[in-house]
Amino acid sequence: MLRNIGDVLGWAAASPEREVCGVVIDETALLVPNRATGDAQFRMTVDDLRLVPGIERMTGVWHSHPDRFPHPSQEDWELHPDGFDLLIVANGVIRAFTRDWSSGFTRTVWSSDE
Ligand SMILES: [Zn+2]
Repeated sequence: MLRNIGDVLGWAAASPEREVCGVVIDETALLVPNRATGDAQFRMTVDDLRLVPGIERMTGVWHSHPDRFPHPSQEDWELHPDGFDLLIVANGVIRAFTRDWSSGFTRTVWSSDE
C-alpha cells in the first residue's frame, strides 16, 4: 500500500511527456531526481539513491509510463532490483507488481483503483 497516492499521481500528471521515478520507503513514495544531469524528473541513479534518507528501508521502486500503459515492460524487469515491488503509474492509476523469478510470472500486488 502507499500513503501518498495523490503525490505520485500529481508528479506523473505534471510530467505527461517524460517518465518520473522514485522509491517507496515506509509505505511513502518519494520522487528521486537525477541530480547529475540537473534533470529534476528522469532516471535516478545509484548516486541519487545514496542521498535519500532512509533508503535502507526501501521496499519498492516506482516510475511513470507517459505512454499510459500501466504494466511493466520487459526492460523494466531487466533493470529492476530483485526483492522490491515495482510500481507503475499510468493513466491516473498506480499498480504495484512483483515477479516470481523462477517462472517469470508477474503478479499485481495492489492497485490504487481497487
Ligand atoms: Zn516502465
